[in-house]
Amino acid sequence: MSKIKIAELFYSIQGEGRYMGVPSVFLRTFGCNFKCAGFGMPRGELSTEVENISFAHSNTPYTDYKDLPLVTTGCDSYASWDPRFKNLSPMLTSDAIVNRIMEILPHRRWEDEHLVITGGEPLLGWQRAYPELLSHPKMSELKEITFETNGTQTLSPEFKEYLTDWAFGSDEREITFSVSAKLPCSGEKWDDAILPEVVCEYEQVGTAYLKFVIANEQDFADAECAIAAYRKAGFKGHVYLMPVGGVESVYALNNKNVALLAMKHGLRYSDRLQVPLFKNEWGT
Ligand code: SF4
Repeated sequence: MSKIKIAELFYSIQGEGRYMGVPSVFLRTFGCNFKCAGFGMPRGELSTEVENISFAHSNTPYTDYKDLPLVTTGCDSYASWDPRFKNLSPMLTSDAIVNRIMEILPHRRWEDEHLVITGGEPLLGWQRAYPELLSHPKMSELKEITFETNGTQTLSPEFKEYLTDWAFGSDEREITFSVSAKLPCSGEKWDDAILPEVVCEYEQVGTAYLKFVIANEQDFADAECAIAAYRKAGFKGHVYLMPVGGVESVYALNNKNVALLAMKHGLRYSDRLQVPLFKNEWGT
């Protein structure tokens, strides 16, 4: 039986993108190919906030995600890829994951809820393990899956075929790729982060959309360049602008400005409902 290293598994409402407001199970896998240390920093600077978090809490190693500090700069999901916290993410079998999902679903079965496979970068290391999970008998009523990805990982031929078959298994089934492509404000290099051919391939399997995290006009100028590159490669999906800010103080500074920018340019606005509603705490 295949296993997946699970950073978090929780029930909440989707706070971002196309399914904003939809009750959702979040499966956060461990591992990412980026660090995104530029988020929330002056342009060209990288945050050391994550690396300065001590492995131990009051001289005791952290044993629970909810005790980890939230950060105002860098990646707000750092514990899902930082090797110092890997012991907080157990390797779980498909059975164990499905049983836990059934426990947290309100009716102990899939009804109108949707599954969000997120990270970290969920398409980095676990593509071989997902078919067993998604084919589990207790997952047969699941209708909608979103992969929240940074858009840099190609689909293996086997996984692409599996997803295509899964989606064609029922008219009601839908696969979405929510692609949070990383602009220079993330601190990641353009050539590593903006890979239009990869995202165009996702469109062969399901619905893909782009979601750019924006703090200012310069970020928007970068987003425009990226959008042009994706369109040139044939990308047809929607584009969302989303305010930077994993904590309310940062989010509240620019959410309205980003909404106005989206309106001005005829793009979609994505909120981050988990920030005002739940303070973006772990497990929300
Ligand atoms: S791609 Fe996402 S999970 Fe990975 S470091 Fe960047 S923000 Fe964090």
